[in-house]
Amino acid sequence: MQIARNKIEQLREYIEQPQRVVILSHTNPDGDAIGSSLAWAEILKRHGHDVTCIVPNKFPYYLEFMPGSEELVVFKNDTEGKAVKAVKGADLIFCLDFHTMTRLDGLGDVIDENQHAKRILIDHHLNPSEDFDLMISYPEASSTCYLIALLVEVMFGAESISKEMAINIFVGMMTDTGNFAFSSVTPDVFRMVSILAAKGISIPDIHNHVYNSFTEGRARLFGYVIDRKMKIFHNGTVAHMSLTADELRRFWFQQGDSEGFVNYPLQIKKMKLSAMFTEHTDFIRVSLRSRGDIDVNIFAQRYFNGGGHKNAAGGKSFMNMEDTIKHFEKSIKEYAAEGLL
Ligand code: 5GP
Ligand code: MN
Repeated sequence: MQIARNKIEQLREYIEQPQRVVILSHTNPDGDAIGSSLAWAEILKRHGHDVTCIVPNKFPYYLEFMPGSEELVVFKNDTEGKAVKAVKGADLIFCLDFHTMTRLDGLGDVIDENQHAKRILIDHHLNPSEDFDLMISYPEASSTCYLIALLVEVMFGAESISKEMAINIFVGMMTDTGNFAFSSVTPDVFRMVSILAAKGISIPDIHNHVYNSFTEGRARLFGYVIDRKMKIFHNGTVAHMSLTADELRRFWFQQGDSEGFVNYPLQIKKMKLSAMFTEHTDFIRVSLRSRGDIDVNIFAQRYFNGGGHKNAAGGKSFMNMEDTIKHFEKSIKEYAAEGLL
């Protein structure tokens, strides 16, 4: 995969002189969101830019090991107004790992107040909204971190990737590809991994931080949701699970604890689509995963005001849990009737 030369030239112009830069990523930031933001921030800082990285809400505790993560401004907890100040004064606003401003929640309104900054998208989601001065949008890319690595390589040379950047980039590449197992993985992804591995990063350590650092509550919550809350229907091909706020409390839920649960039903033979509903204060978060040709991006757009990728998408429901599940089951019937399942 190659990033178009005219886009790189445009980006080069934007960052030729030191600028006030804001890097933003999406709500419920994951390894790819945090990794791409931190790596891009590091290289820009090294070239004299004044950089602030902002995420709308807290990131999972098991990503706290990522180098530089302590400098991320969490908009929701930002009592000092650092985020608003940085966004208002920014010359350049980079939007990483998301495709629509709706994924920024309240932070989106702050961005609208700054009309002079150039907005640059670097992302791999389908159907980005058009509101950008420069769009580096490659849905075929397996992660935003991979795109950042390609950009750094062509603009500054692979030798400019530090060990810290390599760790951050590797986390996003690893998590967004399901450990390099998804169809989005290409030979060039492994070429890039080889460059990162040569920077002296410890792949087992990164793996342990990301996948083996959970709380006891998460392990018990997982057992509970699979055993007690997983419903399989549509002839064994669709599964859904749900967690209410009350259930989350019972297991000492922390942000990120239910990450990945939605993937597990797909380990069952014949399973084509899996959904997970998690109750938040004002809405129910919907997570969707599918196998092969089944398109959950379209499903999420149509039925849950969301979107994402073909095999991993999400959205929101503003109904209660019972009605959300009914709506899901009815939507599945409709989708199947159209031959899409
Ligand atoms: P997850 O299930 O891990 O939260 O999200 C999987 C993918 O679905 C994300 O990478 C993102 O692309 C997409 N996604 C999740 N929630 C939303 C949402 O509320 N709106 C949109 N447009 N996409 C979402
Ligand atoms: Mn991503």
